[in-house]
Amino acid sequence: MAEPGARIIAIANQKGGVGKTTTAINLGAGLAEHGLKVLLVDLDPQGNASTGLGIERDDRPVTTYDLLAGDADLAAATRPTSFANLSIVPATTDLSSADIDLINNEKRMRLLRGALRTDSPYDIILIDCPPALSLLTLNALVAADALLVPLQAEFYALEGLSQLMLTVRELRAGPNPDLRIAGVVLTMVDRRNNLASQVEEDARENLGDLVFDTVIPRNVRLSEAPSFARPVLDYDTNSTGAFAYRALAAELIARNAGKEG
Ligand code: ADP
Ligand code: MG
Repeated sequence: MAEPGARIIAIANQKGGVGKTTTAINLGAGLAEHGLKVLLVDLDPQGNASTGLGIERDDRPVTTYDLLAGDADLAAATRPTSFANLSIVPATTDLSSADIDLINNEKRMRLLRGALRTDSPYDIILIDCPPALSLLTLNALVAADALLVPLQAEFYALEGLSQLMLTVRELRAGPNPDLRIAGVVLTMVDRRNNLASQVEEDARENLGDLVFDTVIPRNVRLSEAPSFARPVLDYDTNSTGAFAYRALAAELIARNAGKEG
């Protein structure tokens, strides 16, 4: 990488409830288990990643909003979590006004890029995007080296994806020529369900190598872990969800080694 600092991966899909936040937290934990220094940037006003990693709502004095507004630098906005090697920049509902507050800022699409592309102790920064192709998500895609898309195996999944890919092409032609696709990960997969299997087949046929070999199964432990303020890798270390996200972390590392080698 030519520029200093961490490799930045935006986790985005304009659909809600597809597993973005679950992937941000648990892929982050999986990468941290490999000894990488991981920072999760919560870019969703709902603040689910922050809550899921144990940062209480009334204990977020500095947030992603401050980072975007230029009122805090990365070090000041970052908090440790109880999981080793995993830190977070928390978000609050303030962030929901960012689209409007920043509209007159001529650098409005590049604010996050400016804040994250600095010398930092992190190997990798994951950005948990909100469920919209909003200015916030565009900031993430302009900041990122790569986009990782969680795709829930259901009927309309691929349609939404083509809109996201169109946005990627537009950004490549403009503010982020080097933006890559890290991959598409199928989430909440239940292979006993015929429709889900069909969607998986279609995705692999249409997207080829872009789809990670690793799939994330539906696993109730993944949905329970946030209320215990921990990644599933810690909450139930031997659950199928924990093993799936460990495998995804390993696959992401292996793919990247292949590309840089
Ligand atoms: P998004 O961030 O895209 O809106 P979430 O990660 O918050 O999606 O997931 C939506 C809901 O589905 C949450 O309640 C989450 O706990 C649950 N969930 C996500 N992935 C799984 C999974 N693999 N198995 C079971 N529940 C899951
Ligand atoms: Mg989310």
